[in-house]
Parts: sequence; C-alpha cells; structure tokens
Amino acid sequence: MDNYEPLEIIGTGSFGLIRKVRRKSDSRILARKEIDYRRMNDKERNQLVSEVNILRELKHPNIVRYYDRYIDNTNCMIYIIMEYCEGGDLSSIIKKCRKEGNYLSESTIWFFFTQILQALHECHYGYGNSKCDSDHSQQHITILHRDIKPENVLLGSDNKLKLGDFGLSRKLNLDRELAQTYVGTPYYMSPELITESHYDTKSDIWSLGCLLYELCALQPPFQAKSQPSLAIKISAGMIPPLPSRYSEELNNIIRATLMVDPNKRPTTMELLKMMHPSRDITRRE
Ligand code: ADP
Ligand code: MG
Repeated sequence: MDNYEPLEIIGTGSFGLIRKVRRKSDSRILARKEIDYRRMNDKERNQLVSEVNILRELKHPNIVRYYDRYIDNTNCMIYIIMEYCEGGDLSSIIKKCRKEGNYLSESTIWFFFTQILQALHECHYGYGNSKCDSDHSQQHITILHRDIKPENVLLGSDNKLKLGDFGLSRKLNLDRELAQTYVGTPYYMSPELITESHYDTKSDIWSLGCLLYELCALQPPFQAKSQPSLAIKISAGMIPPLPSRYSEELNNIIRATLMVDPNKRPTTMELLKMMHPSRDITRRE
C-alpha cells in the first residue's frame, strides 16, 4: 500500500473514487479504484468481489488491465490497482462531436469497433486460466460484460481502446446458466430482456450494436422519454437510418447486431469473420 503515491482524482464511480497514483518502485502512473466497504450492502460487496475476480482473469490489450488489490481493514477501504487510461472515455468523444456538429470518420469508427469487438470476443470466448492451470485442462469460461456503453470504454495511453468497468458482469459457465437480473443502461437494453428478463452473450452483442450505432449517429438507436415507451421501440426493433455518409458494410453490421431475435444476431466470432480484413485496422500495426 505504501508503494503507491496518491495523485489527483480522475473519476467518480458508483462505489467510490478513481484516483491516479504513482507506483514508487518504478514511478509508473496507474489508476486506483478506492472503495469504502462500510457503506456497502451484501449485493454490492458481492458485485465488487466479482469485478475483481473477473478483472484478474482478463489479460488483453483492449481490456483495462488489473494489477493488484489490497484491503485496508483499519479504514474499511478496498483498493484496486489498474492500468491508467489517460484519454478519457468514448462518451466524451461522442459529446464533443455532437457539440461541434462533426461526425466521426468511417475509418475511426472501424478503428474503435474492431477493438471493442476483440475485447468482447476475449470475454465471450477467452480462457479462464487462474483455476485451471494446474490440471492443464483449460476450462472455457464465458464472461458477460452486461454494461457495454460509451462511458465504460476508455482510451489508453497506448492509443488503444479499453473495455472497462466489469462491476456488473457475471461469469457464466457454458452450461447456459443464464444470469437473471438486469442492472445495465436502459437505452441499450435488449428486447429479450424486456420480455424474458434473461441475459446472455447475445445481449452483449445487442449493446455492442447500440454502441456502434451511437458512434455513427451520435445518439442511441432507441430513445424515448419513459421506460415503457423505450421498451416498445426496442421490441419493435425499428432503427432510424444512419447518416448517409456511412458504408453499406457498417449498416449491415448494425442491422445484424440489432436483430430483435437474439438467435439471429451474430456471435463475436461471426462478426470477426464478417469483417473485411482491410477493416481491421488494429492488425496493421
Ligand atoms: P462505475 O462503476 O461507477 O461506472 P467506472 O469504473 O466506470 O465506475 O469509473 C467511472 C469513471 O472513472 C469512468 O467512466 C472513467 O471516466 C474514469 N475511470 C475509471 N477507470 C479508469 C482508468 N483505469 N483510467 C482512467 N479513468 C478511469
Ligand atoms: Mg462505468
């Protein structure tokens, strides 16, 4: 704990503060989530434990890297040390474009989309390693993000996008046990959640589609003043057209990811295959 010099506060999370810190051993700048666990109920404490456990398993250039955690029992604080993302989050980019009346270029949208897709692919198809290394039989663990939205996609110092904030995600074993409660953003809530209230990988795909749409149109695909009227629009799946500047290929991906029937939506694997290799800007490095 003494190894981290506290610097300025960079964000306010639902659990506490996010602070910039300097690791004294090598002067590296990191981010620290500071959580006062006295004010937490059991559900919130469980969410936190699950966030930490999930982060520990995820090592990917497009996922916010978790380094360490420690507990200060005297002050009832839990600290999570993670990669510092100096570029802010995608919501501020969307807001800036809207304010200035500029659309993002098609290539910027592909640049963002391929990275978020690869992060989500790692969650859905990656391999849990912490428990299974000993017997060498890597168990396939599916991680649902459950809260994909512009505020939870950060820009790292390496100029890469990072999917973060796994506070509400759940681990899902592949026996199709479905996480039952929904706690995410209503704007990106999927149709199956309105009717059946269960969540699986295809609901993350829906949110990914909403995010891709919002990057293009600078507003979410479904908007309403009340939650019931939002639910009607989502269930009908009627999407206002994208600005005409964007390609048919982008329109096709959005249409596919926003299919009302989750079975008709592509998986991250299928999305990666659907994309023309020239669109994968991350591979050009
Ligand atoms: P919450 O669970 O309340 O949504 P987040 O983990 O999303 O909390 O953090 C809240 C905000 O703090 C983010 O939207 C982002 O602006 C900032 N933030 C969080 N983590 C980092 C980080 N590793 N580097 C830089 N900024 C961060
Ligand atoms: Mg968040």
